[in-house]
Amino acid sequence: MAIRIDGKTVAAQVLDNVATAATLFEKDFGLKPGLAVVLVGEDPASQVYVRNKIARATESGLNSIEHRLAADTDQQTLDQLVADLNADPSVHGILVQLPLPDHLDEDRIIRAIDPAKDVDGFHPVNVGALHIGEESLEPCTPQGCMIMLEQIHGELSGKHAVIVGRSNIVGKPMAAMLLRANCTVTIVHSRTPNAAELARQADIVVAAVGRAEMIDASWIKPGATVIDVGINVVERPSGNGEAQRKLVGDVNYADVEPQAYAITPVPGGVGPMTIACLMKNTLIAARRLQRK
Ligand code: NDP
Repeated sequence: MAIRIDGKTVAAQVLDNVATAATLFEKDFGLKPGLAVVLVGEDPASQVYVRNKIARATESGLNSIEHRLAADTDQQTLDQLVADLNADPSVHGILVQLPLPDHLDEDRIIRAIDPAKDVDGFHPVNVGALHIGEESLEPCTPQGCMIMLEQIHGELSGKHAVIVGRSNIVGKPMAAMLLRANCTVTIVHSRTPNAAELARQADIVVAAVGRAEMIDASWIKPGATVIDVGINVVERPSGNGEAQRKLVGDVNYADVEPQAYAITPVPGGVGPMTIACLMKNTLIAARRLQRK
């Protein structure tokens, strides 16, 4: 049986460290690390994510400031809010929950956030710094995956990692972080003709595809570690025959688990780590800003 990597437990350890550091920060600087979370519109999934982020921030001793804006908020209003948060010394981290409503320019907002407060790590300055090995704020999801991999393996040097997916928020930064840890990194994507064959050569497979349970045992080398980033809502028949909504990953857990060395579940794997790393980034940003 594979080791089930419990993201909730690892996330709790990260959050404990954040809480301790937040107490010290408050003692040193007379204020709490501040995280501003901006939500535009009523998207139900985004509302859940924001609620969870605010709850974790408060529990970790951060000051969380929530800005809820109507779905028809115009670009100028959002630009102004971001400019105000950039200028506010009590705000150390700014998170604008994505996706934004269609009429708003997401790239423009990502670029408008002060890179020093960009706790999502999406600003081109942070993206570039990560890739050339300079100090940056690193995207939360791949950061969470790295913490879990390092806990399981200790040393990652020399391992072959295959990442399925090349998005800016998961696949690409994941590749940069694994490369920094001296892994041999392969990224496969929708145009890769032999993705499963390449994945089968990997010691570590990171799935970030957005396709429910696409990765089955035929993609996985016996003894490999599997990190499932995917969050997909599917309808499955329940006991009484009615369809029931269920969260599943990009990996077919039941099929892959018997031959993996270690594997993350969905839910309860990468998801909690993403939020924990957001809190960690806020603390890192707060320390750097306060020492400027
Ligand atoms: P994107 O849709 O931005 O990227 C998906 C990637 O998968 C693309 O690079 C795409 O290739 C590739 N892909 C699609 N189909 C295939 C295929 N058949 N074979 C190989 N590659 C394929 O997704 P994200 O990276 O934003 O998210 C991925 C998943 O992770 C989603 O389920 C998302 O909900 C989840 N997620 C979870 C988070 C968490 O905290 N747990 C955080 C962020 C995301 P191409 O580029 O060629 O189109």
